[in-house]
Amino acid sequence: MTSMTGRPAAAYGAMPEAVGLNFSDEDRNLHAVLRLRLGAEHHERAAAILHEAGAVAGGELDRLARDAERHPPRLEQYAPSGARIDEIVYHPAYSAMERITFGRFALAAMSHRPVLGFPAPAPHTFKYALSYVLVQSEFGLFCPVNMTDSLARVLRLFGDERQQALYVSRLTETDPARLYQGAMFLTERAGGSDVGASETVARRTPQGWALSGDKWFCSNVSADLMLTLARPQGAPLGTKGLGLFLVPRVMDGRRNGYLINRLKDKLGTRDMASGEVTFDGALAEQVGDLERGFVQMMVMVNSSRLSNAMRAAAMTRRGYLEALVSARGRMAFGRPLAELPLMRETLTELLLDTEAALSVVLHAGQVYDRADSGDSAAKALLRILTPLAKFSLCKRARWSTGEALEARGGNGYIEEWVNARLLRDAHLGSVWEGTSNIIALDVLRAFERDGADAVLFADLDERLAALAGPHARRAGALLSRAVARARRTVEQVKAADNPEREAAMWRLAERLARLWTASTLLEEAEAESGTSYRKLVVACEYLRRRVLLPEGEVWLGPRPAATGWFDAVTDSTPVPAAAAVPLINALEVEALER
Ligand SMILES: Cc1cc2nc3c(=O)[nH]c(=O)nc-3n(C[C@H](O)[C@H](O)[C@H](O)COP(=O)(O)OP(=O)(O)OC[C@H]3O[C@@H](n4cnc5c(N)ncnc54)[C@H](O)[C@@H]3O)c2cc1C
Repeated sequence: MTSMTGRPAAAYGAMPEAVGLNFSDEDRNLHAVLRLRLGAEHHERAAAILHEAGAVAGGELDRLARDAERHPPRLEQYAPSGARIDEIVYHPAYSAMERITFGRFALAAMSHRPVLGFPAPAPHTFKYALSYVLVQSEFGLFCPVNMTDSLARVLRLFGDERQQALYVSRLTETDPARLYQGAMFLTERAGGSDVGASETVARRTPQGWALSGDKWFCSNVSADLMLTLARPQGAPLGTKGLGLFLVPRVMDGRRNGYLINRLKDKLGTRDMASGEVTFDGALAEQVGDLERGFVQMMVMVNSSRLSNAMRAAAMTRRGYLEALVSARGRMAFGRPLAELPLMRETLTELLLDTEAALSVVLHAGQVYDRADSGDSAAKALLRILTPLAKFSLCKRARWSTGEALEARGGNGYIEEWVNARLLRDAHLGSVWEGTSNIIALDVLRAFERDGADAVLFADLDERLAALAGPHARRAGALLSRAVARARRTVEQVKAADNPEREAAMWRLAERLARLWTASTLLEEAEAESGTSYRKLVVACEYLRRRVLLPEGEVWLGPRPAATGWFDAVTDSTPVPAAAAVPLINALEVEALER
């Protein structure tokens, strides 16, 4: 076992990997950001749990995830008697991972009732941090974990008393034998992005609602409770006519009326069962107001979008950790790879993606917590942060997991190492829960329907104005100019006609996400200043590479890889202000020249 801090000397032919490390203890940045976003008291409680999770993620969970992926689930449609059973058979490794996530770490329960020593339901911020550590080893199962958690949220918000009493306690069980897992079956052949085109019909019968229609993508297809959308007979077309329904797998002790036609043969998340389903008179319970089915469903979808951003952040971190461990332990051209200038550039890029993603996720978690405690300004802000995080982080994780793969050389492409799995799984994040284009258009909808652009800019202005340290203030002033430019662009886009307006949204969403990210990194730098200026270096590097300088421009100014601070920044050890100030000076000169 190696440790990044007490690492052995690099050697020719060495092929080190991060397995065996504690994924929490090694991640000092995680703890620094979490302390800021969660508060010192919660962080103390969180740290012990994260330590335990870090050991599991770096060991047992990683092994189980490999096994489960190599032995994907099977669909058994018939019993020996010929009776239709449609059962999914999972490998024991998958069941063991369910016990770790749902049971030991209570991830579907913690937002709904006190667990793991928290006196009340745990903050989303903590849930994201804990999931972030574990997802570094297992991505697929976090889809069922998140859907179970999100379904409990929907039922607590919109379910009737009976549904809450009957289902929420089972969805938040930590005993696997009593647990009900959740799922959402929305996508149909006709309607993935265009959900309003859904063709599933709901009919009133003496037994209650009965659903008929096909669902084309159903992850966690063996779940106990499914949320789905269907159009009651006579209801209008489009999303307005869709009602929200809960379909239990078993009704009155018998299989409910739906068939699992087949399982999807997927690029990634191969250990988790996604299937195609036909509702054939499945009995269903109405959830909430029939006329508001789609709006209520979006609560689950939005919570899943944020969870996806967190998962993208986790995969980005694992890729970076692997690249760092590999580059430090392996020699080429007479030096450890991590000492070669261009490899340092690669590692710096991966570090920036990693810290940027975590910064966004934990800030969003903090805003989510405030929104849940009744803060209406936070709720309005979350409306825009959710699509920005999902859009930007999931898209970027595709790139960064690919770069991390290449940083390991040929081994990165070989299935024994985690990189290939990370790359496959990372590609899913930007497809499900709304593809990137659909998410970018949701940003436009948030501007138009909810005035979310004004909310976002007010938040950026306020947080940048609060920067008090002299160095962070200077960097903040550079960012403020970029924010002012973006504000003008948003106004132009809003005023434009189609096709220009929609076509602009891909780049605009990414632009806004980067401004938000730079602002959260600077806040973290501010919280650290006085003890170290490491995060200021990271924030300024992010500002330079992702916000201020045009993509692809060659820059010969000061950077950690060239100024001798690379190892300190990478190891999260203190650096003086002198490591950041030349960078800020150079950026100011650049800004004057532009
Ligand atoms: C492994 C996996 C698991 C899944 N699990 C589930 C699940 O559990 N439940 C569930 O409901 N769904 C699930 N999905 C479905 C997923 O959410 C959809 O595939 C996704 O929303 C896209 O819908 P679609 O496949 O119909 O693509 P389409 O809607 O046909 O989109 C095709 C392309 O057109 C683009 N596009 C569409 N509309 C626009 C527009 N207005 N402007 C610009 N571009 C546009 C999209 O961005 C996309 O690139 C899963 C998908 C996968 C791959």
